[in-house]
Amino acid sequence: MALRQIRIMGDEMLEKVCRPVKEMTPKLRQLVQDMLDTMYDAGGVGLAAPQVGILKRIVVIDIDEEGNNPLVLVNPELLESSGEQTGQEGCLSLPGQAGMVTRPNHVKIRAFDENMQEFELEAEDLLARAICHELDHLEGIMYVRHVEGELFEVTEEGEEEEATGRQS
Ligand code: ZN
Repeated sequence: MALRQIRIMGDEMLEKVCRPVKEMTPKLRQLVQDMLDTMYDAGGVGLAAPQVGILKRIVVIDIDEEGNNPLVLVNPELLESSGEQTGQEGCLSLPGQAGMVTRPNHVKIRAFDENMQEFELEAEDLLARAICHELDHLEGIMYVRHVEGELFEVTEEGEEEEATGRQS
């Protein structure tokens, strides 16, 4: 298991637009694995490559409580979005804080997996939120840009976090 250092808000890597992946290489495969390890280690539900300092359009997500349902999105593209959900959102690049963000409640995306097989995916609720959050990272956008009202502190462990979801 190889953990990568998560960049914290203010780091310029988090403000850049990421480049598409042209082909899957051993190096990028390792990156995907490291991103999954890093996300699980940090207790997050998603991580984008720029958060570990790599400006490639790669995202990992796992909203499963047990972390048994990893989703790898390479070159993801939003095809459709509809509805609205407003809820608490956090980010591994801004630990200990959260804010209220309105996102689409339903999204449809097209992406490639770690073997560069193209697929489409429809998602709702937390998964739709996580996808929107991570796709924003690929455009250099932190969720704080969408926050309604003030950011607030959240505890690392405890009831608030349990009730409202982990950070991505
Ligand atoms: Zn984030």
